[in-house]
Amino acid sequence: MVKKSFETTAIRTQIEQSYHREHSVPLYLTSSFTFEDAEHGSALFQGSAEGNLYSRFSNPNTSEFTQKLCLLENYEAGVSTASGMAAVYTSLVALLQSGDHLIASKNSFGNTLYIIQHILPKMGVEYTLVELDDEQSWIRAIKPNTKLLYLETPSNPTLKIADLSFISRLCRDNKIISIVDNCFATPYLQKPSEFGIDISIHSATKYIDGQGRVLGGAIIGNKEHIKHCYEFIRRTGACLSPFNAWILSKSLETLAVRMDRHCSNAMSIATWLTNHPLVENVIYPFLPHSKDYELAKKQMKLGGGLVGFEIKGNGNKAIKFLNSLKIHSLTANLGDSRSIATHPASTTHSKLDETQRLNSGITSNFIRLSVGLEHVDELITDIDQSLSTTK
Ligand SMILES: *Cc1c(COP(=O)(O)O)cnc(C)c1O
Repeated sequence: MVKKSFETTAIRTQIEQSYHREHSVPLYLTSSFTFEDAEHGSALFQGSAEGNLYSRFSNPNTSEFTQKLCLLENYEAGVSTASGMAAVYTSLVALLQSGDHLIASKNSFGNTLYIIQHILPKMGVEYTLVELDDEQSWIRAIKPNTKLLYLETPSNPTLKIADLSFISRLCRDNKIISIVDNCFATPYLQKPSEFGIDISIHSATKYIDGQGRVLGGAIIGNKEHIKHCYEFIRRTGACLSPFNAWILSKSLETLAVRMDRHCSNAMSIATWLTNHPLVENVIYPFLPHSKDYELAKKQMKLGGGLVGFEIKGNGNKAIKFLNSLKIHSLTANLGDSRSIATHPASTTHSKLDETQRLNSGITSNFIRLSVGLEHVDELITDIDQSLSTTK
């Protein structure tokens, strides 16, 4: 079979038509599926026949969504989950057991760190946290019982980049499972499988939905790993709802065009901010002066939709800036068609103490923009008028 492009795969992969010959995939809102006869029911339960049985196990809409993701990122198997966090939690609990050791990036999503630091230890899983871009510390952290390595790249909110080839080699050499949270990059910008990463995780809530409507997540990888995750989800009920899967599968059809625009808007804004007298330390992986530029270029198709920067001056200029924005939304989400401005120090990262926060590069004047799909000139005008109030 000829390998199709990302765009055509995302648009043309769909479950079979029903007898109505619908063009767009229908929504299968059904909790269970009927058996052809008693023997068929028994065979479905035994696993000797394939097919849908109950929507906690599988459903045409969730299957379509995960199948598409697997094709887009070139993984063998996948399972979809109720949210990104359900995907993170499932992957860790399904693949680790008491006595195992886990190494994770300090720069991971806050709730992921909570699971690693507060929930997994109750199950007898120990951990070491390391800096995402400090390769020596990943190597030093390996113990005889290290089973799994977990990271996000680009990281939130300071957009650090990990070298995926290095990570995957380290894991192969030491028989460790590698997991990458690919939420910020999306399947369109970065394919962890190309670098040999075992498992890719998504919060589909972000760019995959792309319009801030539904929660969802997915775990994709090889059949053996995914089987463990599937068994866990099927029994614990962390499954994706068919309705959300239907939205997310449809959203994948437009992911490529949306990401192209998110990235070009973000690149324009990052470049413009670099020359702004009231701004310093603009972070965007594809800015040529960026520390991670070469690595980002190697791993990602484009720079992504997030931009970080600091507002110059003393005191909390960031609060003034946020309160003066007219187009940008103040909310905790990202990856939406609507642009969003966030102040990590007082919101997402407010639970860290001052030293931890500064070590992570999150100063009190640091702003994270999730650049949306509005006209870029109007976004720049909004940021400019708001910055002028911080003089
Ligand atoms: C939002 C997010 C999650 C969690 O996803 P939910 O869908 O909100 O549960 C996990 N990882 C990253 C990087 C995220 O941005």
